[in-house]
Amino acid sequence: MIPTLRSSSLLDRQSGKRSDPEYLASLVRHADARFIVLLDHKPVIVSNEARTEAALRWFTQGDLENVDIEVVDPFFLGVERTGGAPRFAVAVTELRIRQTPAALRMLAPTVDLRSLAMQGIVSSEEVSLAGKAKALAHWHDNARCCGRCGAATRIRDGGWRRRCWACGTDIFPRTDPVVIMLVEHPDRQSCLLGRSGRFAPNMYSTLAGFIEPGEDVADAVRREVMEEAGIEVGAVSYHSTQPWPFPHSLMIGCIAQATTTDLTIDLEELADARWFSRDECRHIIEGTHPGGVTGPGRQAIARVLLNAFIEGRA
Ligand SMILES: [Zn+2]
Repeated sequence: MIPTLRSSSLLDRQSGKRSDPEYLASLVRHADARFIVLLDHKPVIVSNEARTEAALRWFTQGDLENVDIEVVDPFFLGVERTGGAPRFAVAVTELRIRQTPAALRMLAPTVDLRSLAMQGIVSSEEVSLAGKAKALAHWHDNARCCGRCGAATRIRDGGWRRRCWACGTDIFPRTDPVVIMLVEHPDRQSCLLGRSGRFAPNMYSTLAGFIEPGEDVADAVRREVMEEAGIEVGAVSYHSTQPWPFPHSLMIGCIAQATTTDLTIDLEELADARWFSRDECRHIIEGTHPGGVTGPGRQAIARVLLNAFIEGRA
């Protein structure tokens, strides 16, 4: 059994306390403090030999010293609700680590978070935790200068804020809202799935798109479905959400009722889109589709929406 932190919801972010640098420093020094390492944005994991089960590798301060990783401004993920152990993430680049045998042993394997999420070999709680760290790391890489005056910014609040040294502007990590929608045919017996040219061959999923300034969720759903597939949408209902750290989106899952059925596909956006019957969707999820069509990954919200449709809960 691989030791793991089973639930990120067991972490208290302590957002009211993390602006106190002395408090944070005491947590970093805490004997129970544990750190995940993102090496070039990829989390270091431990796995069994067959790679069928894996978990994030949690480093102690001593482990990090052994591999010459200096803990400077780690990202504060929170403290465990039971026991109070502090949890952090350290982002390093391959160029900054000394490639000693110990380091190579401890820092391998790393795995791309997107494939980790797709393969489903790590618990969804740990994927979400690594996602939180990766989203922060990406933001820091892109927020080194003040958007207002151009001077350098400095990290604050355990990675949850940056401040411009020159003009004092505070900037905060951003989250981009994305609508992702399962569109039901007017007869409710089939749903609309599409494929982007970037997808693996034969993979179909629900449509999605960024919310633009001034739009509400339903407006964005209607606009995206019209733009991408030429379908008019009537009622839109909210289903569920999922943070999606590629790099920092929040997927807002919706069920949309189509009022028209003739597709006009925007080939700049989609390689294909079509209506799939409930039976076909079931085969897609079970991997038994006669045409070899595959669907969204196990931990993707698209799959949750598709399952809701299959089970008639949409
Ligand atoms: Zn500034």
